Amino acid sequence: MQNISLSDLHKQIKMHLECLRISGIEWLENNNNCTSQTSVPIVNDHLPLVSMAGTQNVVVASPAPVIPSLHSLEKKTLLLQQLKDEVASCVKCPQLAQTRKNTVFGIGKIEPDICFVGEAPGITEDEKGIPFVGEDGLLLDKILKACGLSRDEVYFLNIISCKPPDKRLPLPTEVTNCRGFLEKQLALVKPKVICCLGSCAAENLLDTKIPTNKLRGKFYDWKGIQVLCTYHPLYLIRNPEKKKEVWEDMKFLISHLGRMLPTP
Ligand code: SF4
Repeated sequence: MQNISLSDLHKQIKMHLECLRISGIEWLENNNNCTSQTSVPIVNDHLPLVSMAGTQNVVVASPAPVIPSLHSLEKKTLLLQQLKDEVASCVKCPQLAQTRKNTVFGIGKIEPDICFVGEAPGITEDEKGIPFVGEDGLLLDKILKACGLSRDEVYFLNIISCKPPDKRLPLPTEVTNCRGFLEKQLALVKPKVICCLGSCAAENLLDTKIPTNKLRGKFYDWKGIQVLCTYHPLYLIRNPEKKKEVWEDMKFLISHLGRMLPTP
């Protein structure tokens, strides 16, 4: 188990509680006393006190009662920046931490219609610290434009935040290490639909071994967010005949969101 200072632990607990609050969980069940349970609110500037010293005062997330939250996009922006800073100093995957030039955190609109989830940063992403800015990103930009969308209207992120060396796939341990960052980011960004690009994203987000060609055409659920799967733009560069299928998927997604495709 990783050693962690009390102040870091406190920061992580605060961020976790804030993510819960932003996700709509406004109250926590307080199991402080074995014979009675009470609920304590998570409020903006005063999170419930969690004991650092032992198992007493442990608070457990409870889905009810839920009170409508009044959090702002500014607050989410701040929390995402804190998470980005945490990712930037992360060394949980020693090989990736040694070989990366930059960590690559997600970018785009908060609470967008679509969040695209890819596999891992490539060479250009690693150099610039921005997701989907390589050859695949250029193709994705064209797909977005054909759908009447711009980069500013969607969110992009990858399953892991550091480039694996030698163009290899992320290892299961690396995916597991980065899972918390991915989930917290998605909870804060809260897209209407997640679009998994390629099998690595779909396998790891949906915990499935079903290939992309079989996952396409239907919506799945990930923690209350709808998920659609299609091919990764890099796969399209190597297999241009698959572009037609991605276009079908995008038309399906745009229509599902109640949006119109631009007139040619
Ligand atoms: S991939 Fe994620 S968990 Fe691994 S070192 Fe990078 S930021 Fe940390």
